[in-house]
Amino acid sequence: MSFKQELVGLFGQPVVENPTQAMVEAAFGSLGLDWRYLTLEVAPADLGDAVRGARAFGFRGFHCTIPHKVAVVPHLDRIGESAAAIGAVNCVVREGDDLVGENTDGKGFLRSLESRLDPRGASLVVLGAGGAARAIAVELKLAGAGRLTIVNRSEERGRELAEAVGADFARWSGDYAVPPGTDVLVNATSLGLHPNVAERVPVAFGPPLLVADVIPNPPETRLLRDAVAAGCETLDGLGMLVEQGVLAVEYWTGRRPDAGVMRAALAAVL
Ligand code: NDP
Repeated sequence: MSFKQELVGLFGQPVVENPTQAMVEAAFGSLGLDWRYLTLEVAPADLGDAVRGARAFGFRGFHCTIPHKVAVVPHLDRIGESAAAIGAVNCVVREGDDLVGENTDGKGFLRSLESRLDPRGASLVVLGAGGAARAIAVELKLAGAGRLTIVNRSEERGRELAEAVGADFARWSGDYAVPPGTDVLVNATSLGLHPNVAERVPVAFGPPLLVADVIPNPPETRLLRDAVAAGCETLDGLGMLVEQGVLAVEYWTGRRPDAGVMRAALAAVL
């Protein structure tokens, strides 16, 4: 073990078991790095002190989760392009003496999607207008997606996101019928997240369509099972979580970890 161990962390709410920690430490192991990923409970009032602490301890970076994704911004030196467009930071990277805020949620989704389809010019429907939907919509537009429709229950939130990224908006009430010609349907709501695994996402669709879910737990959601039964292709939320972890490790270490090792570590915890 080296005398000075490199550290990265997760600043968030108390957690019993942190799947991201298992995934990131598996990545460090696969790269032969004797690094540690610490899960640290940080109260909102202490966020500024926690960031100063990370500077003092020489952290290579840290993840930020709810409720710190927006509040952390004033404590950082710079913000990356997509984090600025999204208005939230989930991954902080030390560059020299600077702490730089990035957002890997949407980029992780995009990488996962690109393993199946080229988003340039594609027609996509995104369900939801919260943090995950915003990150995904921003990255899809930056990647040159064609027609993008935001579908959301709350009209104000949905319209605001659609206008911000230059997408169409549809208000969600009853079953939303996915228009013919759509290439990808993305569930970016929290519907179906453990323990509400029986929750139905109210949509009507048929093939040919790639149905993607952001829910990582359980990876096989009711929506994805329904999609398979309807003859559609599917993409699970575990892929997005793994790819955003790959990006974070790349930011912190400058090296590309083994995504397969990370997925296995994550699946073992989930
Ligand atoms: P938010 O709370 O910011 O947004 C939730 C969204 O879901 C809103 O658009 C909300 O609509 C909608 N919604 C919630 N309940 C319903 C319902 N019953 N009917 C219709 N719409 C509903 O959450 P986030 O965007 O931060 O997270 C969403 C999901 O994304 C979470 O489950 C999270 O686990 C997952 N996620 C996955 C990641 C991954 O790497 N796989 C990364 C980040 C998030 P309204 O505006 O009307 O309230």
